[in-house]
Amino acid sequence: MSNNFIPISEPNIGAKELEYVTDAVKSGWVSSLGYYVEKFEKDFASYCNMKHGVSVSNGTVAIHLALLALWIKEWDEVIIPNLTFAATANPILYIGATPVLIDIERDTYNMDVSKIEKKITSKTKAIIPVHLYGHPCDMDEIIKLAEKYNLHVIEDCAEAHGAEYKWKKVGQFSVISCFSFYGNKTITTGEGGMCLTNDEWFNKVMRELRDHGMKKDRKYWHDTIGFNYRITNLQAALWCAQLEKIDDFIDIKRWNAALYNQCLSSVEWIILPVEKSYAKNTYWMYTIYIDETKFWISRDELIQGLKEAGIDSRQCFYPLSDMPPYKSFWSTAELGVSRDVSYKALNLPSSTLLKKEQIRYICDRIKNLKK
Ligand SMILES: *Cc1c(COP(=O)(O)O)cnc(C)c1O
Repeated sequence: MSNNFIPISEPNIGAKELEYVTDAVKSGWVSSLGYYVEKFEKDFASYCNMKHGVSVSNGTVAIHLALLALWIKEWDEVIIPNLTFAATANPILYIGATPVLIDIERDTYNMDVSKIEKKITSKTKAIIPVHLYGHPCDMDEIIKLAEKYNLHVIEDCAEAHGAEYKWKKVGQFSVISCFSFYGNKTITTGEGGMCLTNDEWFNKVMRELRDHGMKKDRKYWHDTIGFNYRITNLQAALWCAQLEKIDDFIDIKRWNAALYNQCLSSVEWIILPVEKSYAKNTYWMYTIYIDETKFWISRDELIQGLKEAGIDSRQCFYPLSDMPPYKSFWSTAELGVSRDVSYKALNLPSSTLLKKEQIRYICDRIKNLKK
């Protein structure tokens, strides 16, 4: 088996996808108008129990669009976790606002809610909680703070499609929530994203902004500088086939995580991912933490050892606070947990195409590493 490289993730695409994409090609509707785009927006909004879905070309611009619609401006402050993919922070910088970095919880790797309040200033306009690796944030606490200080909440759900907080799917806890459908996400359009909202006004504003800022009822008239953030009917067709399988994909990811947990629970130098009592974790990426005080191998040596055994694994995201574009926004010493986890955690193969034997093989390799 070690001759076959086991990838960290792989899109799970089958005959249905081919059928729908072929249908879209044959229909001639290859740009951003067409049956599948409308279906994509309606079906995903209803999957998440929200009223409106505004599809966009990727998850990064979904966040940009949400910030623009909420009128976040230059010099405003937006609170985000220090441990996330850079796409959470970049759109804040596109508009000249300031990302305020918050440390993470040691168990869920999500933004540490107890550290938010002292970072709120008169300039703070929004909080972007990120449901990292498929584990939802503690939304009640975040919403309480947002109400107390009159802040917007924008969930970054790019890694947590179908994950649940207190038996409700993520994406329902904010005025606008954002999703990505990149190739390695739980379901994919190749490249794609979506903003969900229950608000008629934000729905309208985001639809105009993604379409060059053109007035819906007055062709070629622009009141504002817009963007072309549209998605194509071809991508939406692929996605429509993916949505039919999302619950199966999530079940598979959860079974895979359970098998990993079972095989690795006896290893005292590994800390396994958690699932809080309020959470349904979708384990978008199965992530373990290496306790280097209990073992002779470092995280990076483990990644190398797995690679030699034909197994792909990934280091966790770097902390934003350590990278050039975001460095100036950090407040020293307060980000210790995110910096520690960032350098000691790794993602193991998490594809829905993984076989049970492959997971057992991966765990076996981990347990029998040779110096
Ligand atoms: C993938 C991802 C995004 C951005 O998605 P793209 O579609 O790649 O632009 C945003 N936030 C997080 C946390 C992500 O993992």
